[in-house]
Amino acid sequence: MEISECPLCGAAAKPSDKKCNYCKSEFFVTSIAYLGNMDSGSFNKYLKYYKELINKEPNNTEGLLGLGLCYLQMGTYPLAQKCFEQIIEHSPEISQSYYYFTLSFIKGRRLMSISLKEAKLIETYLNTAIQLDDSVPQYKLLLAMLKRDYFEMNGLKVQPPCFSDILNNIQGSEISKKEIERLFDSIKVGSQQLFLSNLVLV
Ligand SMILES: [Zn+2]
Repeated sequence: MEISECPLCGAAAKPSDKKCNYCKSEFFVTSIAYLGNMDSGSFNKYLKYYKELINKEPNNTEGLLGLGLCYLQMGTYPLAQKCFEQIIEHSPEISQSYYYFTLSFIKGRRLMSISLKEAKLIETYLNTAIQLDDSVPQYKLLLAMLKRDYFEMNGLKVQPPCFSDILNNIQGSEISKKEIERLFDSIKVGSQQLFLSNLVLV
């Protein structure tokens, strides 16, 4: 994909640029944290830009990730899910797509109420994301939530590590407030505080 101008301000850009030399915005969004801090005018410009990009190049990974994140931020879960599924199929090495897939897949439900089949799929996806990138605390946070609020609360056997071991592993980690907001909009648990008490929200 060749970028010729900034999606936000329209300044000219070279194909090798990753961000705008003029307004400093990123061309490709890779996390909810970045999108969540944007005003609605900028958000809509990104959304339009990614839609046009995917019309031209349906399997563009960076475009699909950006578009999926826009849909997730809007709460349009089925469209978000489709984008992340497509990335997993064509570029299985992108860790974010597994994590954000699970958010769009659960669609605001309480973890405890999902089916065993769904819980196993989510567990597999989160373990894959962690294997690909061990340094992102929200992947482990969501795995801990799944083990506690689905497996333990339903009286099912928990494959080690248990939820408290996972939380100890990410103790003191920094997570963006926007990332946490999106997580708890997409996935409900019995007690949010149980999972957040040892994390630093920034
Ligand atoms: Zn710009």
